[in-house]
Amino acid sequence: MAHISYEGDVDPTVLQGKRIAIIGYGSQGHAHALNLRDSGYHVVVGLPEASKSRARAIADGWQPVLPGEAAREADIIMLLVPDQHQRAVYEQDIRPHLADGKMLMVAHGFSLHYGQIVPPTNIDVAMVAPNGPGPMLRRMYSEGKGIPALWTVQQDVTGQAQALTLAYAHGLGCTRVGVIQTSIGEETETDLFAEQVVLCGGLTSLIRTAFETLVEAGYQPEIAYTCCLQEVKLIADLLYQGGINQMHKAISDTAEYGDYVTGPRIIDQHTREQMRGALKDIQDGTFARDWILENQAGLPSLLAMRRKDAEHPIEALGRRIRKML
Ligand code: NDP
Repeated sequence: MAHISYEGDVDPTVLQGKRIAIIGYGSQGHAHALNLRDSGYHVVVGLPEASKSRARAIADGWQPVLPGEAAREADIIMLLVPDQHQRAVYEQDIRPHLADGKMLMVAHGFSLHYGQIVPPTNIDVAMVAPNGPGPMLRRMYSEGKGIPALWTVQQDVTGQAQALTLAYAHGLGCTRVGVIQTSIGEETETDLFAEQVVLCGGLTSLIRTAFETLVEAGYQPEIAYTCCLQEVKLIADLLYQGGINQMHKAISDTAEYGDYVTGPRIIDQHTREQMRGALKDIQDGTFARDWILENQAGLPSLLAMRRKDAEHPIEALGRRIRKML
Protein backbone atom coordinates (compact mmCIF):
# COMPACT_ATOMS: atom_id res chain seq x y z
CA MET A 1 0.00 0.00 0.00
CA ALA A 2 1.45 3.35 -1.02
CA HIS A 3 2.40 5.70 1.81
CA ILE A 4 0.71 9.07 1.28
CA SER A 5 1.37 12.20 3.37
CA TYR A 6 -0.90 15.24 3.68
CA GLU A 7 -0.71 18.73 5.22
CA GLY A 8 -1.17 17.45 8.76
CA ASP A 9 1.73 14.99 8.48
CA VAL A 10 4.29 17.72 7.82
CA ASP A 11 6.14 20.22 9.99
CA PRO A 12 6.66 23.16 7.60
CA THR A 13 8.74 25.07 10.15
CA VAL A 14 11.81 22.83 9.62
CA LEU A 15 12.42 24.69 6.35
CA GLN A 16 12.24 28.14 7.97
CA GLY A 17 15.59 29.90 7.89
CA LYS A 18 17.03 27.46 5.34
CA ARG A 19 18.37 28.99 2.13
CA ILE A 20 16.96 27.17 -0.90
CA ALA A 21 18.72 27.51 -4.27
CA ILE A 22 16.57 26.83 -7.32
CA ILE A 23 18.93 26.13 -10.21
CA GLY A 24 17.08 26.72 -13.49
CA TYR A 25 13.96 28.81 -14.09
CA GLY A 26 12.00 26.87 -16.69
CA SER A 27 8.80 24.86 -16.39
CA GLN A 28 9.54 23.43 -12.93
CA GLY A 29 12.03 26.07 -11.74
CA HIS A 30 9.69 29.05 -11.89
CA ALA A 31 6.89 27.14 -10.13
CA HIS A 32 9.14 25.81 -7.34
CA ALA A 33 10.71 29.23 -6.75
CA LEU A 34 7.43 31.16 -6.70
CA ASN A 35 5.47 28.61 -4.64
CA LEU A 36 8.24 28.31 -2.05
CA ARG A 37 8.58 32.10 -1.85
CA ASP A 38 4.83 32.49 -1.39
CA SER A 39 5.00 29.81 1.31
CA GLY A 40 7.39 32.07 3.22
CA TYR A 41 10.71 30.39 2.48
CA HIS A 42 14.05 31.95 1.59
CA VAL A 43 14.71 31.24 -2.09
CA VAL A 44 17.56 32.20 -4.43
CA VAL A 45 17.40 31.58 -8.19
CA GLY A 46 20.58 30.41 -9.92
CA LEU A 47 20.98 30.97 -13.68
CA PRO A 48 23.95 31.43 -16.02
CA GLU A 49 24.63 34.98 -17.22
CA ALA A 50 23.50 34.13 -20.76
CA SER A 51 20.36 32.20 -19.77
CA LYS A 52 17.23 32.93 -21.76
CA SER A 53 15.24 32.49 -18.53
CA ARG A 54 16.87 35.47 -16.80
CA ALA A 55 14.38 38.02 -18.14
CA ARG A 56 11.44 36.00 -16.90
CA ALA A 57 12.99 35.50 -13.48
CA ILE A 58 13.71 39.21 -13.15
CA ALA A 59 10.15 40.03 -14.25
CA ASP A 60 8.94 37.74 -11.45
CA GLY A 61 10.90 39.75 -8.91
CA TRP A 62 14.08 37.68 -8.59
CA GLN A 63 17.65 38.81 -8.73
CA PRO A 64 19.23 35.69 -10.25
CA VAL A 65 22.79 34.85 -9.25
CA LEU A 66 25.16 32.45 -10.98
CA PRO A 67 24.39 28.76 -10.29
CA GLY A 68 27.68 28.24 -8.44
CA GLU A 69 27.03 31.24 -6.21
CA ALA A 70 23.50 30.06 -5.44
CA ALA A 71 24.79 26.58 -4.59
CA ARG A 72 27.58 27.97 -2.38
CA GLU A 73 25.19 30.07 -0.29
CA ALA A 74 22.39 27.50 -0.04
CA ASP A 75 21.49 24.84 2.50
CA ILE A 76 19.23 23.09 -0.02
CA ILE A 77 19.98 22.95 -3.74
CA MET A 78 17.16 21.93 -6.10
CA LEU A 79 18.51 21.08 -9.55
CA LEU A 80 15.89 22.04 -12.14
CA VAL A 81 17.85 22.12 -15.38
CA PRO A 82 17.03 19.62 -18.17
CA ASP A 83 18.04 16.07 -17.20
CA GLN A 84 20.57 15.80 -20.03
CA HIS A 85 22.45 18.89 -18.75
CA GLN A 86 22.38 18.03 -15.06
CA ARG A 87 25.69 16.20 -14.97
CA ALA A 88 27.59 19.19 -16.39
CA VAL A 89 25.86 21.71 -14.12
CA TYR A 90 26.39 19.45 -11.11
CA GLU A 91 30.09 18.94 -11.81
CA GLN A 92 30.82 22.58 -12.57
CA ASP A 93 28.53 24.55 -10.27
CA ILE A 94 27.24 22.34 -7.49
CA ARG A 95 29.69 19.64 -6.46
CA PRO A 96 32.40 22.12 -5.38
CA HIS A 97 29.93 23.63 -2.88
CA LEU A 98 28.52 20.49 -1.24
CA ALA A 99 29.66 21.11 2.31
CA ASP A 100 28.68 18.69 5.11
CA GLY A 101 24.97 18.48 5.83
CA LYS A 102 23.70 20.31 2.75
CA MET A 103 20.87 18.79 0.75
CA LEU A 104 20.83 18.12 -2.98
CA MET A 105 17.38 17.73 -4.51
CA VAL A 106 15.99 16.74 -7.91
CA ALA A 107 12.47 16.69 -9.39
CA HIS A 108 13.09 13.53 -11.43
CA GLY A 109 15.44 10.66 -10.64
CA PHE A 110 17.10 10.23 -14.07
CA SER A 111 20.54 11.66 -13.20
CA LEU A 112 20.79 9.88 -9.86
CA HIS A 113 19.40 6.57 -11.06
CA TYR A 114 21.64 6.30 -14.12
CA GLY A 115 24.80 7.47 -12.37
CA GLN A 116 25.05 10.85 -14.09
CA ILE A 117 25.29 12.39 -10.65
CA VAL A 118 27.04 10.49 -7.87
CA PRO A 119 26.65 12.64 -4.75
CA PRO A 120 29.27 12.59 -2.00
CA THR A 121 28.37 10.77 1.21
CA ASN A 122 28.42 13.89 3.43
CA ILE A 123 25.14 15.37 2.20
CA ASP A 124 21.41 14.61 2.18
CA VAL A 125 19.93 13.65 -1.22
CA ALA A 126 16.23 13.75 -1.93
CA MET A 127 13.58 14.11 -4.61
CA VAL A 128 10.24 15.88 -4.87
CA ALA A 129 8.73 15.14 -8.28
CA PRO A 130 5.44 16.94 -8.92
CA ASN A 131 3.00 14.94 -11.05
CA GLY A 132 2.52 17.66 -13.62
CA PRO A 133 4.14 20.47 -15.57
CA GLY A 134 5.36 23.59 -13.78
CA PRO A 135 2.67 25.98 -15.03
CA MET A 136 0.02 23.68 -13.56
CA LEU A 137 1.96 23.36 -10.29
CA ARG A 138 2.03 27.16 -10.06
CA ARG A 139 -1.59 27.74 -11.12
CA MET A 140 -3.01 25.17 -8.70
CA TYR A 141 -0.95 26.60 -5.83
CA SER A 142 -2.17 30.12 -6.65
CA GLU A 143 -5.76 28.88 -6.56
CA GLY A 144 -5.25 27.41 -3.10
CA LYS A 145 -5.10 23.87 -4.48
CA GLY A 146 -2.20 21.62 -5.42
CA ILE A 147 -1.06 18.72 -7.53
CA PRO A 148 0.27 15.42 -6.15
CA ALA A 149 3.98 14.65 -6.05
CA LEU A 150 6.28 11.69 -5.53
CA TRP A 151 9.04 12.04 -2.97
CA THR A 152 11.93 10.07 -1.58
CA VAL A 153 15.07 10.47 0.46
CA GLN A 154 18.03 8.70 -1.12
CA GLN A 155 20.61 9.70 1.46
CA ASP A 156 20.03 11.01 4.98
CA VAL A 157 23.14 12.09 6.84
CA THR A 158 21.56 14.81 8.97
CA GLY A 159 18.59 12.81 10.22
CA GLN A 160 16.50 15.74 8.97
CA ALA A 161 16.21 14.77 5.32
CA GLN A 162 12.72 13.31 5.45
CA ALA A 163 11.25 16.22 7.41
CA LEU A 164 12.90 18.75 5.08
CA THR A 165 11.75 16.94 1.94
CA LEU A 166 8.15 16.79 3.13
CA ALA A 167 8.30 20.46 4.13
CA TYR A 168 9.58 21.27 0.63
CA ALA A 169 6.65 19.36 -0.90
CA HIS A 170 4.38 21.27 1.49
CA GLY A 171 5.88 24.56 0.28
CA LEU A 172 5.03 23.59 -3.30
CA GLY A 173 1.41 23.01 -2.27
CA CYS A 174 1.61 19.29 -3.08
CA THR A 175 0.68 18.01 0.41
CA ARG A 176 -2.69 19.77 -0.02
CA VAL A 177 -3.65 16.81 -2.22
CA GLY A 178 -1.14 14.18 -1.07
CA VAL A 179 2.46 13.15 -1.74
CA ILE A 180 3.41 9.53 -2.34
CA GLN A 181 6.65 8.01 -1.05
CA THR A 182 8.68 6.19 -3.68
CA SER A 183 12.31 5.42 -4.53
CA ILE A 184 14.57 7.04 -7.12
CA GLY A 185 14.49 3.82 -9.19
CA GLU A 186 10.73 3.41 -9.09
CA GLU A 187 10.02 7.06 -9.98
CA THR A 188 12.53 7.11 -12.82
CA GLU A 189 11.54 3.83 -14.41
CA THR A 190 7.76 4.25 -14.14
CA ASP A 191 7.95 7.87 -15.35
CA LEU A 192 10.02 6.95 -18.43
CA PHE A 193 7.82 3.93 -19.13
CA ALA A 194 4.55 5.88 -18.88
CA GLU A 195 5.74 8.74 -21.08
CA GLN A 196 7.15 6.41 -23.72
CA VAL A 197 4.40 3.80 -23.78
CA VAL A 198 1.22 5.74 -22.95
CA LEU A 199 1.32 9.49 -22.46
CA CYS A 200 3.62 10.58 -25.28
CA GLY A 201 4.98 7.78 -27.50
CA GLY A 202 1.99 5.44 -27.33
CA LEU A 203 -0.64 8.12 -27.71
CA THR A 204 0.94 10.07 -30.57
CA SER A 205 1.68 6.89 -32.55
CA LEU A 206 -1.87 5.68 -31.99
CA ILE A 207 -3.37 8.99 -33.13
CA ARG A 208 -1.14 9.37 -36.18
CA THR A 209 -1.60 5.78 -37.36
CA ALA A 210 -5.39 5.98 -36.93
CA PHE A 211 -5.47 9.34 -38.78
CA GLU A 212 -3.41 7.91 -41.67
CA THR A 213 -5.66 4.84 -41.86
CA LEU A 214 -8.80 6.96 -42.21
CA VAL A 215 -7.29 9.39 -44.74
CA GLU A 216 -5.84 6.54 -46.80
CA ALA A 217 -9.33 5.01 -46.91
CA GLY A 218 -10.69 8.23 -48.44
CA TYR A 219 -12.26 10.01 -45.47
CA GLN A 220 -11.91 13.79 -45.11
CA PRO A 221 -8.72 14.65 -43.21
CA GLU A 222 -10.60 17.26 -41.14
CA ILE A 223 -13.01 14.60 -39.89
CA ALA A 224 -10.14 12.17 -39.22
CA TYR A 225 -8.32 14.87 -37.24
CA THR A 226 -11.22 15.83 -35.02
CA CYS A 227 -12.30 12.29 -34.16
CA CYS A 228 -8.81 10.80 -33.71
CA LEU A 229 -7.01 13.72 -32.05
CA GLN A 230 -9.23 16.48 -30.74
CA GLU A 231 -11.67 14.17 -28.99
CA VAL A 232 -8.84 12.60 -27.01
CA LYS A 233 -9.20 15.46 -24.53
CA LEU A 234 -12.85 14.64 -23.84
CA ILE A 235 -12.02 11.01 -23.04
CA ALA A 236 -8.87 11.95 -21.10
CA ASP A 237 -10.92 14.30 -18.91
CA LEU A 238 -13.42 11.52 -18.18
CA LEU A 239 -10.62 9.07 -17.37
CA TYR A 240 -9.00 11.65 -15.08
CA GLN A 241 -12.26 12.37 -13.28
CA GLY A 242 -13.52 8.85 -12.69
CA GLY A 243 -11.29 6.13 -14.15
CA ILE A 244 -12.06 3.69 -16.96
CA ASN A 245 -15.34 2.38 -15.57
CA GLN A 246 -16.81 5.85 -15.12
CA MET A 247 -15.66 6.84 -18.60
CA HIS A 248 -17.54 3.83 -19.96
CA LYS A 249 -20.68 5.04 -18.23
CA ALA A 250 -20.41 8.47 -19.90
CA ILE A 251 -19.93 7.24 -23.47
CA SER A 252 -22.57 5.54 -25.62
CA ASP A 253 -23.22 1.80 -25.34
CA THR A 254 -22.00 1.50 -28.93
CA ALA A 255 -18.70 3.17 -28.04
CA GLU A 256 -18.36 1.00 -24.95
CA TYR A 257 -19.01 -2.21 -26.92
CA GLY A 258 -16.46 -1.11 -29.56
CA ASP A 259 -13.96 -0.46 -26.77
CA TYR A 260 -14.27 -4.05 -25.46
CA VAL A 261 -14.13 -5.83 -28.83
CA THR A 262 -11.65 -3.68 -30.77
CA GLY A 263 -9.33 -2.32 -28.04
CA PRO A 264 -7.69 -5.71 -27.35
CA ARG A 265 -7.39 -6.28 -31.13
CA ILE A 266 -5.25 -3.14 -31.43
CA ILE A 267 -3.32 -3.44 -28.16
CA ASP A 268 -2.65 -7.16 -28.39
CA GLN A 269 -0.10 -9.70 -27.17
CA HIS A 270 2.47 -8.31 -29.61
CA THR A 271 2.04 -4.83 -28.11
CA ARG A 272 2.38 -6.29 -24.62
CA GLU A 273 5.68 -7.92 -25.64
CA GLN A 274 6.86 -4.59 -27.06
CA MET A 275 5.93 -2.86 -23.79
CA ARG A 276 7.97 -5.43 -21.87
CA GLY A 277 10.88 -4.76 -24.22
CA ALA A 278 10.60 -0.99 -23.68
CA LEU A 279 10.51 -1.55 -19.91
CA LYS A 280 13.59 -3.77 -20.07
CA ASP A 281 15.49 -1.07 -22.00
CA ILE A 282 14.57 1.41 -19.27
CA GLN A 283 15.47 -0.94 -16.43
CA ASP A 284 18.83 -2.07 -17.79
CA GLY A 285 19.86 1.47 -18.77
CA THR A 286 19.81 0.96 -22.57
CA PHE A 287 17.41 3.88 -23.12
CA ALA A 288 19.36 6.17 -20.77
CA ARG A 289 22.68 5.26 -22.41
CA ASP A 290 21.27 5.96 -25.90
CA TRP A 291 19.82 9.31 -24.76
CA ILE A 292 23.09 10.37 -23.14
CA LEU A 293 25.08 9.37 -26.27
CA GLU A 294 22.55 11.20 -28.46
CA ASN A 295 23.21 14.36 -26.45
CA GLN A 296 26.97 13.91 -26.65
CA ALA A 297 26.68 13.59 -30.44
CA GLY A 298 24.76 16.88 -30.72
CA LEU A 299 21.23 15.41 -31.01
CA PRO A 300 21.34 14.26 -34.68
CA SER A 301 18.52 11.72 -34.33
CA LEU A 302 16.31 13.92 -32.18
CA LEU A 303 16.59 16.84 -34.60
CA ALA A 304 15.86 14.61 -37.60
CA MET A 305 12.84 13.02 -35.92
CA ARG A 306 11.59 16.42 -34.74
CA ARG A 307 11.80 17.75 -38.31
CA LYS A 308 9.99 14.72 -39.74
CA ASP A 309 7.32 15.06 -37.07
CA ALA A 310 6.73 18.72 -37.87
CA GLU A 311 6.38 17.92 -41.58
CA HIS A 312 3.62 15.34 -41.07
CA PRO A 313 0.37 16.51 -42.77
CA ILE A 314 -1.50 16.24 -39.47
CA GLU A 315 0.40 19.31 -38.17
CA ALA A 316 -0.56 21.78 -40.93
CA LEU A 317 -4.09 20.42 -40.87
CA GLY A 318 -4.26 20.79 -37.10
CA ARG A 319 -3.18 24.44 -37.27
CA ARG A 320 -5.97 25.12 -39.80
CA ILE A 321 -8.62 23.24 -37.83
CA ARG A 322 -7.75 24.84 -34.50
CA LYS A 323 -8.28 28.25 -36.14
CA MET A 324 -11.58 27.15 -37.67
CA LEU A 325 -13.14 25.46 -34.64
P1 NDP B 1 13.05 23.41 -18.65
O1 NDP B 1 13.71 23.05 -19.93
O2 NDP B 1 11.64 23.90 -18.69
O3 NDP B 1 13.90 24.51 -17.89
C1 NDP B 1 15.24 24.34 -17.66
C2 NDP B 1 15.83 25.56 -17.01
O4 NDP B 1 17.21 25.32 -16.73
C3 NDP B 1 15.78 26.81 -17.89
O5 NDP B 1 15.55 27.92 -17.08
C4 NDP B 1 17.18 26.82 -18.48
O6 NDP B 1 17.59 28.12 -18.88
C5 NDP B 1 17.96 26.39 -17.28
N1 NDP B 1 19.31 25.94 -17.60
C6 NDP B 1 19.76 25.31 -18.71
N2 NDP B 1 21.07 25.07 -18.60
C7 NDP B 1 21.44 25.58 -17.39
C8 NDP B 1 22.67 25.66 -16.71
N3 NDP B 1 23.78 25.22 -17.27
N4 NDP B 1 22.69 26.23 -15.47
C9 NDP B 1 21.57 26.69 -14.91
N5 NDP B 1 20.37 26.68 -15.54
C10 NDP B 1 20.32 26.11 -16.75
O7 NDP B 1 13.17 22.11 -17.71
P2 NDP B 1 12.04 21.45 -16.80
O8 NDP B 1 11.59 22.44 -15.80
O9 NDP B 1 11.03 20.78 -17.68
O10 NDP B 1 12.85 20.26 -16.11
C11 NDP B 1 13.63 20.47 -14.95
C12 NDP B 1 13.59 19.19 -14.13
O11 NDP B 1 12.25 18.95 -13.69
C13 NDP B 1 14.02 17.94 -14.91
O12 NDP B 1 14.70 17.08 -14.04
C14 NDP B 1 12.68 17.30 -15.29
O13 NDP B 1 12.74 15.91 -15.51
C15 NDP B 1 11.87 17.62 -14.04
N6 NDP B 1 10.42 17.58 -14.19
C16 NDP B 1 9.83 18.24 -15.24
C17 NDP B 1 8.45 18.22 -15.38
C18 NDP B 1 7.78 18.96 -16.49
O14 NDP B 1 6.57 18.73 -16.69
N7 NDP B 1 8.43 19.86 -17.22
C19 NDP B 1 7.60 17.47 -14.43
C20 NDP B 1 8.32 16.92 -13.30
C21 NDP B 1 9.69 16.96 -13.22
P3 NDP B 1 17.50 28.62 -20.42
O15 NDP B 1 16.19 29.34 -20.51
O16 NDP B 1 18.65 29.53 -20.57
O17 NDP B 1 17.58 27.40 -21.29
